[in-house]
Amino acid sequence: MPVGLVTVSYIGSIILFILALGGLSNPETSRRGNAYGITGMTIAVLATVFGPQVDVYVIIIICMLIGGTIGFILALKVQMTQMPELVAILHSLVGMAAVLVGYVNFMDPHAAAQFSGAEKTIHDIEIYIGVLIGAVTFTGSVIAFGKLSGKIGGAPMLLPARHWLNLGLLIAAIWYGIQFVNASDIDSGMLPLMIMTGIAFAFGIHMVMAIGGADMPVVISMLNSYSGWAAAATGFMLSNDLLIVVGALVGSSGAILSYIMCRAMNRNFIAVIAGGFGTESAGTAGLTSDQGEVIAVDTEEVANLLLDAKEIMIIPGYGMAVAQAQHTVYEITKTLRDKGINVRFGIHPVAGRMPGHMNVLLAEAHVPYDIVFEMDEVNEDFPDVDVSVIIGANDIVNPSAQDDPNSPIAGMPVLECWKGKTTIVLKRSMATGYAGIQNPLFFKENTRMYFGDAKESLDAVLKIISA
Ligand code: NDP
Repeated sequence: MPVGLVTVSYIGSIILFILALGGLSNPETSRRGNAYGITGMTIAVLATVFGPQVDVYVIIIICMLIGGTIGFILALKVQMTQMPELVAILHSLVGMAAVLVGYVNFMDPHAAAQFSGAEKTIHDIEIYIGVLIGAVTFTGSVIAFGKLSGKIGGAPMLLPARHWLNLGLLIAAIWYGIQFVNASDIDSGMLPLMIMTGIAFAFGIHMVMAIGGADMPVVISMLNSYSGWAAAATGFMLSNDLLIVVGALVGSSGAILSYIMCRAMNRNFIAVIAGGFGTESAGTAGLTSDQGEVIAVDTEEVANLLLDAKEIMIIPGYGMAVAQAQHTVYEITKTLRDKGINVRFGIHPVAGRMPGHMNVLLAEAHVPYDIVFEMDEVNEDFPDVDVSVIIGANDIVNPSAQDDPNSPIAGMPVLECWKGKTTIVLKRSMATGYAGIQNPLFFKENTRMYFGDAKESLDAVLKIISA
């Protein structure tokens, strides 16, 4: 393929990726956005493979077949509840790719011979930074995967003097960077590069291990951003404009998402990254289980409460994803709205386990977008709500975020459902949510606990209200 055609294809891909981002910003246009993204990526891969830089097709085709098959099988098998872990582990692959490309680029004598003087210094810095960001992204994402899948506990691991440790690692990385850039040949540059890689791997582990459960949304969006910068750095190493632009798009959109997540949780980005938020008190706040009796209700009582209401607010959380209850939720919503009851949805920005998790599930079940509202749009309406239905949510409706300054989630905005007339909570037990803290909402006078798997419980309610 001639260079001109490759350049045109790259520009076309970049435009499609920008359109994809625009489309993905709204549920109504998200399918179109996805289609733009897939088309852009297909063009990008074809233009790269058939471009002038590639001449060994057999290896590339074998690798694409192996990778494509693994990806295809994983995409077919993955449950909706496992999506966040999948995203985290995919970020780790981008990080590892940046590390490997950096090493190969450094060890390639032809690449090294292309540059001299200031150009060589810049190229070395590109390699060093690319490997650094890639290594942090790799181990950070692997730990995030472990935390999201429950293989690693959610509690933050706080080493003594951890801020000094981080500072020490940063200074060491800069010092070895100077050694690396000043190295006269590949052999003498390899040691500082390898030591820095080890440091960056350790830093990625330490950074994410130190972050408490409730702050994980910020970590996910941050690693998303890092994976973009790692790809951009790879683009610089390979002099590939498409990778630079796409990496920058992912990096900056991830950074904006991190900012939005921080705002949603009322957290300061630096404080989240520094880790250990609210941990001094997590021990006590997590154990305040002796808060009185809860009032449990059965299916019939729940159905009657719903049928007697005029204003209903449904608040879905991670448990709705686990139970896969979204389709029944849609049926119940339709049935109640047909009876003239105003049913709306209140979505917390960090509900579930990934940004937009609840919106994706509700869209999948065809819940109309115009009755799905963000937390800020509905939080003032709760005094007028007759029944709030909490479906498998916990941390996002925990009043201790407002009432208990020692709570690990203190200061996080929550959906203030307790201000309504009655709150029905669907969950299987009195177990805590992701942040590992008990929820005083369950013990309030106007709260009714409806125990059981959300899907089974809602199926039973649907039967009664549609009879
Ligand atoms: P939580 O994890 O706080 O609570 C979920 C609740 O669902 C649990 O208490 C559980 O109780 C219940 N549940 C689980 N399975 C079922 C089921 N089959 N049927 C009924 N109930 C069920 O979820 P929230 O959505 O309220 O809050 C999200 C939390 O996750 C926040 O702490 C947030 O910071 C964190 N997080 C969010 C991310 C994001 O990007 N959105 C990413 C990473 C973390 P029980 O076991 O008793 O049924």
